[in-house]
Order: sequence, then structure tokens, then C-alpha cells
Amino acid sequence: MLFLNLYIIIDMINHKSKLICPHCSHEKTITMPSTFCQYFLECTNCKTVIKAKAGDCCVFCSYGDIKCPPIQKN
Ligand SMILES: [Zn+2]
Repeated sequence: MLFLNLYIIIDMINHKSKLICPHCSHEKTITMPSTFCQYFLECTNCKTVIKAKAGDCCVFCSYGDIKCPPIQKN
């Protein structure tokens, strides 16, 4: 039963975030890594390297519609 409960907790975390590029407003749904924070991400449209804002742990917290998995857990 413990194993089953663990699965439910994992399912509650959303791993997909819609990222909006601050340079060209290009929207892209990206699967977030759960093991590390993605601080830099290259926009597939304008090739600008998107950097997380000061105080944010990753680009998803700064520009995504959903916060990163470690933040969702807290
Ligand atoms: Zn862009």
C-alpha cells in the first residue's frame, strides 16, 4: 500500500510547463527535468538563451505557467 501511495504523490506533480520566451513570445510546452533545475534554456524559435530571473531557481519558475517539480513539492 505504501508503494501505491507513492505513485499518487508522484502523479500530482505536473512535469509539463508552457514556457513563453521573453524575447519573441514563442510558446512551447516543455517536460521539466525532475532531478535538477534548468537554469538556462535555448528558445527553439529565436535561439536566445533564456536565463532564470534573479531569485528563481529555474526558467520554468520565471517564464513557465507551472513551477518546477521541486517547488511544487514544497
Ligand atoms: Zn524566443
